[in-house]
Amino acid sequence: MDGTISNLSQATPTSYPPAPKLTATNAPIHLQVGERRFTTTRSTLTEESDFFAALLSGRWDNALADGSYFIDADPALFEHILAYLRRGVFPLFYDASKGHDHHRYLSLLEEARYFRIPRLEAWLHEKRYLKAVQVSITAKEYDENNHGWMETTGSADMTLQYHPQWTVHKVHLCPKGFNSHRGNPDLCYRYSCRIIDDEEARFVEEPCMRMLVVRREVVFNQDVCVAREEEELGCTKEAFAAQDKPAYSNQSTPFALF
Ligand SMILES: [Zn+2]
Repeated sequence: MDGTISNLSQATPTSYPPAPKLTATNAPIHLQVGERRFTTTRSTLTEESDFFAALLSGRWDNALADGSYFIDADPALFEHILAYLRRGVFPLFYDASKGHDHHRYLSLLEEARYFRIPRLEAWLHEKRYLKAVQVSITAKEYDENNHGWMETTGSADMTLQYHPQWTVHKVHLCPKGFNSHRGNPDLCYRYSCRIIDDEEARFVEEPCMRMLVVRREVVFNQDVCVAREEEELGCTKEAFAAQDKPAYSNQSTPFALF
């Protein structure tokens, strides 16, 4: 048994990358945000946030006695700020029945300004989340010969609305009374049934139903929500930093804290 364990450990000596060594930038750092406590790393906080870069620059003695830092912010919103800083995924507050939560986006926009995270700020200010969730609507009409609407399948993000409409159509009647010729004048010609000149006599009007099916599908464009995908489109952090500070930045003043 010892040999087996030994062999296993020897067989895959390089299967996993070595655990990163703890340094000043990736050592745990504790934040007291409002009434909640968050643990993350210095590099996560400072890579995109000028606020945290200043706060943790070491130029100010602003840590609490236990080494943590107090941030006066709503922890429920800060959770999304931190999630973005960690993995670069933009927040999406969307509910299929209610749509986007615009008030929440606005609240988070103010946090992005406060913590000075230009790319998140731009994403929220320019409402790029509207591109993340889009609705596709198509309408298709079915008649009495096509009941395909009864067997429609689709994703859970799809809803269907049915609009039935009664209408009248003319049905050919066989002059000789053959039921099999009903609705099929070609058969009457083929079997030389007597053709009645009076058109009214050769047709009967029957009600039929047409079905208009409106298909509404929510399409999620996940590329819009990932910062690194945006970088490929030229929306780099440097590009944001190089912009003249746009009108949507109200220049938060983190230094007032220190
Ligand atoms: Zn006939």
